[in-house]
Amino acid sequence: VIEQGQPDKSIVTTCAYCGVGCTFEAQMKGTEVIRMVPYKGGEANHGHSCVKGRFAFGYATHKDRITQPMVRNSIDEPWRETSWDEAINFAATKLKAIQKKYGKDSIGGITSSRCTNEETYLVQKMIRAAFGNNNTDTCARVCHSPTGFGLKTTLGESAGTQTFDSVMQADVVMVIGANPTDAHPVFGSLLKKRLRQGAGLIVVDPRKIDLTKSPHVTLDHHLALRPGTNVAFINAMAHVIINEGLEDKAFIKNRCATKAFNAWVAFISDERHAPENTSDITGIPANELRLAARLYAKANNAAIYYGLGVTEHSQGSSMVMGIANLALVTGNIGRDGVGVNPLRGQNNVQGSCDMGSFPHELPGYQHVANTLLREKFEANWNVSLDPEPGLRIPNMFDAAIDGNFKGLYCQGEDIAQSDPNTQHVQAALNSLECLVVQDIFLNETAKFAHVFLPGSSFLEKDGTFTNAERRINRVRKVMPPLAGLADWQVTMALSNAMGYEMNYQHPSQIMDEIAQLTPTFKNVSYEKLERFGSIQWPCNDTSPDGMPIMHVDSFPTLGDQSGKANFAITEYVATTEKVNKKFPLLLTTGRILSQYNVGAQTRRTDNQVWHDEDVLEIHPNDAQERGINNDDWLGINSRAGDTVLKAKISERMQPGVVYTTFHHPDSGANVITTDNSDWATNCPEYKVTAVQVNKVTSP
Ligand code: SF4
Repeated sequence: VIEQGQPDKSIVTTCAYCGVGCTFEAQMKGTEVIRMVPYKGGEANHGHSCVKGRFAFGYATHKDRITQPMVRNSIDEPWRETSWDEAINFAATKLKAIQKKYGKDSIGGITSSRCTNEETYLVQKMIRAAFGNNNTDTCARVCHSPTGFGLKTTLGESAGTQTFDSVMQADVVMVIGANPTDAHPVFGSLLKKRLRQGAGLIVVDPRKIDLTKSPHVTLDHHLALRPGTNVAFINAMAHVIINEGLEDKAFIKNRCATKAFNAWVAFISDERHAPENTSDITGIPANELRLAARLYAKANNAAIYYGLGVTEHSQGSSMVMGIANLALVTGNIGRDGVGVNPLRGQNNVQGSCDMGSFPHELPGYQHVANTLLREKFEANWNVSLDPEPGLRIPNMFDAAIDGNFKGLYCQGEDIAQSDPNTQHVQAALNSLECLVVQDIFLNETAKFAHVFLPGSSFLEKDGTFTNAERRINRVRKVMPPLAGLADWQVTMALSNAMGYEMNYQHPSQIMDEIAQLTPTFKNVSYEKLERFGSIQWPCNDTSPDGMPIMHVDSFPTLGDQSGKANFAITEYVATTEKVNKKFPLLLTTGRILSQYNVGAQTRRTDNQVWHDEDVLEIHPNDAQERGINNDDWLGINSRAGDTVLKAKISERMQPGVVYTTFHHPDSGANVITTDNSDWATNCPEYKVTAVQVNKVTSP
């Protein structure tokens, strides 16, 4: 319920949902937020917002918030409420005992992309300094880890290249595996504005997303490829460009590493990549693909926007590199209106990667095995660091099942619902001797926990989030933490109890430390953020006020052709997740406008009125073949498991492909997804699951 009335004051802060990072005025009456108003000065949103952000304050004070720490010796026991001191000591004692018994590598932690940069930085610091290992990972593992790997390999930096506003200079926009009008609505509206002005549009998606049928938007090509064939598609696009002489020769000569380019041309020229030879794989008619490739290559400015439909595949990293290859070969990098633009899912997933959440990288993507870099952190943190990369999230699960991993600290991440192959995740969590969950709600993961530490919402703390365009936005405390401590203070207390002293008085001090250690954040400070409103990293001596467009003159690549971009060989390898008689359909997953991720927050706001269940979208032919009508209950079986969803017959689907969302825990979308994953980063292959669908009588 939105309370009306005149506010006493308003505080500018940042939305805690998607990677657009809209800024809002939290309008206050006394100590209560009465409404969130999109902030006109917000550089990511310019006074716009979507329904999620406007109602987000509802979950902050929802009755389900847990505000008292809780402990229990076994997950069969009921929770016992306790003090912060006892809960922190309970967790630290158990984690230390596990390390004594099983070794220092037997525990680890997961940082949260919903928390601030400063909080994420502290969690990975605690794991490296207090736990003494590098067993730290983040939800980016299951969403955009291929973006980090693929863009670093080709362009030298693990981030998108543009500002959102840059789309207004694009002449052709290619949207691959993203649904911006639902998942990134404020950017989706900006994109539609540009399309209404006449920019060309290529949509690459197995499903007819809203952009393919938006009024006043001219769709040039909808390439409805088969799930799992992205790399065959992107290689075919590049083949056409090279084969027809559409490459930007001057850009390639001046900006790209020669040896890598020559090797790539030899690879991509091969006739096996020709659209005529890949259409059987992708399902895209050869002529349609040729026309799309010409449209993209001949545009003055062509921009690519992509989402999880690119990354969440067994070839996610190859596809990201394939996208970078395409932008490079056509010279669409380094100015307004072009670029490679990953649309990040969670509000601070870019930040959680930047802040060193990965097991192999310290903050700023500095490799932990590099002695010079590691020594810099050791001197600042006054501790010896392990030079060996630690465990990724799926490796933690496997090690837990093998009996080698026994303790986990999980901050603001519901791995029991969001990670694939739920049965495997649950078995891993069940085998832990100490699971510490820090969250604002008693989530699905907490069912397996021994310690529950109440988290704080975005309204209850100071800090920063970094959005999908590398924009560092301030998060400002609007109300005191309901449980008494903000997340950064809880991590600090746990680190102290584990024996590594931390003593920050305010998140600005944490940012000052980040700036000392992270070259791309060198000139970032709260004082500067107050002056500028927001800053796009890198913000250092070469770009003291931040850098809206990256790679204008050179690429931050190393090696004998440092400064030049690298083409990457991207061989298409078919996923092992194949259809057969038993599992004849391919399931792919996505989101809807009014819900955010696993729905833990949006289901506790007024957004709930727009969506109360996940359904299975199925093409009329597939439905007819099975005698399925709308709203029938359907049993969905995969090699991993079974679930039940209601039917929604939809022309959006192509025959042979079904689709669902994962906003409700009881829908069980991840009970059926498998643990196939990206070859380079282990990002799960959420987007391709072979299934069978049949009518059942009841859920
Ligand atoms: Fe903006 Fe995303 Fe929040 Fe919507 S959910 S208000 S688009 S940041």
